[in-house]
Amino acid sequence: MRILVTGGAGFIGSHLAERLVKEGHSVVVFDNFSSGKIENLSRILRDVDVVKGDLRSRSDLERAFAGGVDAVFHFAANPEVRVGDPQEHFENNILATYNLLEEMRRRGVRDLVFASTSTVYGEASKLPTPEDYGPMKPISLYGASKLSCEAIISSYAYTFQFKAVALRYANVVGPRAKRGVVRDFVLKLLNNPRELEILGDGTQRKSYVWVEDAVEATLLAWRGTRGGFEAYNVGSEDSITVVEVADIVVEVMGLSGVRYRFTGGVDGGRGWVGDVKYMHLDISKLKSLGWSPRYSSREAVRRAAESALEELRG
Ligand code: NAD
Repeated sequence: MRILVTGGAGFIGSHLAERLVKEGHSVVVFDNFSSGKIENLSRILRDVDVVKGDLRSRSDLERAFAGGVDAVFHFAANPEVRVGDPQEHFENNILATYNLLEEMRRRGVRDLVFASTSTVYGEASKLPTPEDYGPMKPISLYGASKLSCEAIISSYAYTFQFKAVALRYANVVGPRAKRGVVRDFVLKLLNNPRELEILGDGTQRKSYVWVEDAVEATLLAWRGTRGGFEAYNVGSEDSITVVEVADIVVEVMGLSGVRYRFTGGVDGGRGWVGDVKYMHLDISKLKSLGWSPRYSSREAVRRAAESALEELRG
């Protein structure tokens, strides 16, 4: 198939593009390179078509679809989970997704996979949280924009006969990640190996998933869905605290006696306004399709710390 990967030069998108190429698909990477990097595609640069463009521009999108497209994996977004400019989230997530859907509809492309997030649930009272949990009350602009996208995508699925799959990812970690707690800790400890600043009170407990496990889950969900709109949680079986993440990073870096300095955070120890303090997804829906993560949160974080260290040391 000829598959368009929006955000294909980013962290998850580039791993996904690699996997699709390996499976023999013809891949078009569409990215505005705001956070994506051409180096992320170094292993497959000769095998993919790269279209530099922005989802906010309908004419850029026309170029992306020009050579024909059978399916779209929509991974481009403003993935900033901290409070930011509401307009940024609206334009890069909601408007961008609407533009994409319209271009697909116009061209009769009806196969869509969407990168959603665990933050759509907000502060779920049920942990692990299943896909049918409600009411969904996002507490961040990011989570709200992603939930809005899911709603619009679902409406296109039932109004215009799309097959649409949304993956609600936990924290995805691994090589090429440019943000997130693991890289943040490695960077801080390279600068000062004696003291580590930890946002919040350190008791935030979340689930982490290895990027290749997430890609595997994505493809399985795509293949396992026949039509309509389906959402799947993608996470690991366990969750760990931010202090545990710090302990793993310290150990991987071979440090000892590191003093943890907690910022205290906001609103009961959150790292930032809108930070969901406890996140653990129920992954039984995807497991029933035959998927299970190879790594636990702890193992995924350890491997991610090793790769971040390698990347940051150069
Ligand atoms: P990333 O920033 O590495 O990738 C996003 C890519 O989209 C970048 O290459 C960026 O240049 C591109 N992009 C942004 N706005 C664009 C626009 N308007 N037009 C074209 N390209 C644009 O982030 P990531 O961590 O790889 O996230 C990929 C997707 O997965 C995002 O949708 C994100 O919300 C979602 N997600 C990520 C995580 C995670 O832990 N990393 C968790 C849940 C969901």
